[in-house]
Amino acid sequence: MAETIAAVATGNSAAGIGVIRISGDRALEIAQTVFKAVDGTPLSSLNGYTAKYGRVFAKGEGYDNAVALVFKAPKSYTGEDVVEISVHGGLFIVEKTLEAVLAAGAIPAQAGEFTKRAFLNGKMDLAQAEAVASLISASGQQAAKASYNLLQGSLSNKINSVLSSLIDCSASMAAWVDYPDEEIPELSQESLQRTLENAEAQLNSLTDNYESGIIMLQGVDTVIAGKPNAGKSTLMNMLSGEEKSIVTHIEGTTRDIVEGSVRLGDLVLHLSDTAGLRQSEDIVEAIGIKKAMDKIDTAALVLAVFDSSSPLSAEDEDLIEACKGKTAVAVINKTDLPCLADCKKIEASFSRTVYISAKNGDGADGLENEIKEALGVEQFDSSQPMLANQRQKQCVANAAAHIKTALEGCLAGVTYDAINVMIDSAVDELLSLTGKKATQEVVNNIFSRFCVGK
Ligand code: GDP
Repeated sequence: MAETIAAVATGNSAAGIGVIRISGDRALEIAQTVFKAVDGTPLSSLNGYTAKYGRVFAKGEGYDNAVALVFKAPKSYTGEDVVEISVHGGLFIVEKTLEAVLAAGAIPAQAGEFTKRAFLNGKMDLAQAEAVASLISASGQQAAKASYNLLQGSLSNKINSVLSSLIDCSASMAAWVDYPDEEIPELSQESLQRTLENAEAQLNSLTDNYESGIIMLQGVDTVIAGKPNAGKSTLMNMLSGEEKSIVTHIEGTTRDIVEGSVRLGDLVLHLSDTAGLRQSEDIVEAIGIKKAMDKIDTAALVLAVFDSSSPLSAEDEDLIEACKGKTAVAVINKTDLPCLADCKKIEASFSRTVYISAKNGDGADGLENEIKEALGVEQFDSSQPMLANQRQKQCVANAAAHIKTALEGCLAGVTYDAINVMIDSAVDELLSLTGKKATQEVVNNIFSRFCVGK
């Protein structure tokens, strides 16, 4: 018998309501200790999906009005009996209710434990459980849509269809090899080859779109770099819509790295506004500049800002050099002022250039398009199944590699026995993706990254 767990399911700040979720065999009995319906109906006598209005009590004293929502196993999120008690969402009241529930016999839920139980009770597979985490962290329309499709099983369905074709094929080969006396028709090499090619293509289409999918789901680590006064902080403020960076006309004001995430259309940029790139005597500033250079090396996207109202300087040349081979967009700023910079040279040095006036907010749309094209996410289709994390990608890449070897073996006339071993390895990888064959360690690792209450 699984212990009955409880946690606050809503956020860690004051709100209109707060929800305490209880799941397990004793959920109704424990909730009943804390919650009393105004009409006196015991929660255990309610049907699933029923709400009751009442009051919550601690040490015999009522302290808030509340609603209890009852779910009966297996028709609940976790597949167990679940009660969700909604109270007014002040942090004190919510905490007090959780304490009362724990005092009545529940134990505190671990991170992700509700979803883990849903997985263990067959309410969802591992890919869908991971989609819950993506959906919660989604910060844009496309990310939310893609995560929702994953939660609905879009990836699982695709993987299961590849699995079923591989398992069929493997079963036919095994039967033919193991029972030579039976009149089992031999699987033709042509048909085997077609199945393997199709499986490989399906899996490769997933890994091919992995990077752009992850960028849409998780955002992209972006650095804004440029010489002092180019307008980096103003650009960061334009993007974030708030005064995050200190903007002054005295060179070197942005001494360290200022960080924040902004939404550019559907894309989230995790921004760092760096200290201006220049040689400096000032030790504090020099540390900032070193960090800026390091950031250019490690960021997935560089927004290289140039001041069009002044001629290109040595620092600008350094920046052009530092951006070589990087995914970078040249942002030529201050287009509201007369142009003195050699913009043709900048254009020739970057594959993408955009003209903006950060001060006036002009050019944001163009910047968004250039960034999306630079990252290869402009064609991202949230309705298609995608791989939501490195674990899933690794499983699919491993499976595709086994299938490739099987295909090569098939073309080279290797025995069906040997090919079947490779197909089995591919099947194992895909089963571990959906969780049918995942180790305890993998499962624990996945759910430990969830928040408590989910
Ligand atoms: P940073 O050192 O690169 O962060 O540059 P700042 O963002 O602090 O900007 C330096 C100065 O340039 C400030 O006085 C800004 O108001 C000004 N500035 C920034 N962007 C523009 C722009 O698009 N047009 C004009 N005219 N001035 C700008």
